[in-house]
Amino acid sequence: MAAELSRLFGRVDELKPRMMETWANLVNRDCGSRNKAGVDAVGRDVRAFLEGIVFRVRFHEYEKAGNLLIAERGDTTKPFVVLIGHLDTVFADGQAAERPFTEKDGVVTGPGCLDMKGGVTILLYAMKVLHESGWDRFPVKVILAGDEEAGHANSTAVDDMRAEARGALCGFNFETSFVDDSVVLWRKGVATFRFDVQGIGAHVGNNPKGGRSAITELCAKVADINALTDYDEGSTLNVGVIAGGTVPNACAEKAWCLVDLRTKSKPGYDRVYRGLQEIARKTYVDGTKTTLSTLFNFPAMEKLDSSMRLFEKVNAIAVANGFPRMTAKGVGGGSDSSSLTQEGVPTVCALGVKGEFNHTVREYALRDSLFERTKLLIAILTELELG
Ligand SMILES: [Zn+2]
Repeated sequence: MAAELSRLFGRVDELKPRMMETWANLVNRDCGSRNKAGVDAVGRDVRAFLEGIVFRVRFHEYEKAGNLLIAERGDTTKPFVVLIGHLDTVFADGQAAERPFTEKDGVVTGPGCLDMKGGVTILLYAMKVLHESGWDRFPVKVILAGDEEAGHANSTAVDDMRAEARGALCGFNFETSFVDDSVVLWRKGVATFRFDVQGIGAHVGNNPKGGRSAITELCAKVADINALTDYDEGSTLNVGVIAGGTVPNACAEKAWCLVDLRTKSKPGYDRVYRGLQEIARKTYVDGTKTTLSTLFNFPAMEKLDSSMRLFEKVNAIAVANGFPRMTAKGVGGGSDSSSLTQEGVPTVCALGVKGEFNHTVREYALRDSLFERTKLLIAILTELELG
C-alpha cells in the first residue's frame, strides 16, 4: 500500500468516534419518506458538513417530498465522479425514539442504520479525509435523494437525478450492503399499475340483461395481463390485488386490480407498458370502459458492460489494499442507481455498510464495515484510473 494511503487510513482510525457520532445523529431522528420536514432537516445538517469541506451545496425543492441534495466539489463542468444515496427511511415517526441507535459487540441497530445512514456517513467522512489531504483527482458530485423509499412518486427527483448525473465518469452508490461482500451491478425495475373498470350496474333478478359486468371484463383482462410475463426478457407481472362489485344480486358496476411489474431493461418495460395500454383499450364486455394508471415506477438499474469493468477495477483496488474480495450480483429491489445507468454512467451499487434485514425492525449493520468501506472509498478515489 502507498504511504499516502496508509496515512489516510490512519486518519479514518482517528475519526472513528466522530464517525459513530455522525451515524448515530443520522439514525436518531425521524425521517421517513412521508416526513418531509424530518428529511429536509437531515438534508440541512448534511449540507453544513459538506460546506465545511468546500462543497457547493444546493437543493432541488419539492412540495410533497423530501428535497434532493446536490453537492459539488471541483469543476463539475468537466467529467466528474458521482457519489449517490438517500436521506429518507421507510420508518414511521416515533421509531427513532422507540429504538434509537445502539451499538453492542460491533452490531449497530436503529431505524435506517443499514439503509442507509451508514452509507451517508461513509460518503461524508471519505470526502472529509480526502479534502484534508488536498485530494483533487476528480471533480465530485454528491446526489442525495429525500424520497427514494417512496419511489419518488411525489417529486421530479428521477428526472432531476438523471440530469445531474449526465456526463459523469462513473458512479458509486452507498446503499445497503451485504455481509457476504457482494455488491450490486444491476437491479430489476419495479412498477405498480392500477386498472379501473367501469361497467353498468343492474338488478340481476329484474333486469338480467341490463347490466355490463365490470368483474367479467376485468377477469378477462387478468389473463391478458399475466400473458405479458416473459421470463427470458426478465419481465414478470403479478395481479396481486383485485376487487369489485357490491352484492351478489347486482351486476358489478366497478372492478379494479393492482399489478406489480418487475423488469430488467427499458425495452422490456416499454413492451409491457404498451401491452397494458392495449389491454386497457380492448373491450370484452361491450359498454364497459377501462382506465390504466401508473401508481409507482422505479426503472431498472441496467446491467452495463462498463459497470462490470468499473467493478473489476474497484475490486482490484480493494484486494490490493487488504480488503475482502467482492462479488457482483443483481437483485430484485430498486435503487437510484437506475438514474445513473439510464444515463449510461458505469455504476457500482451497494457500497454502504454491511448488514441484513433492511426495511424491518430486525435491521442491523456491522460497525466495522463503516470504517472498512470509508477506507475503500478513499482508496478507490485515490487509485482509480478512468478512461
Ligand atoms: Zn436504501
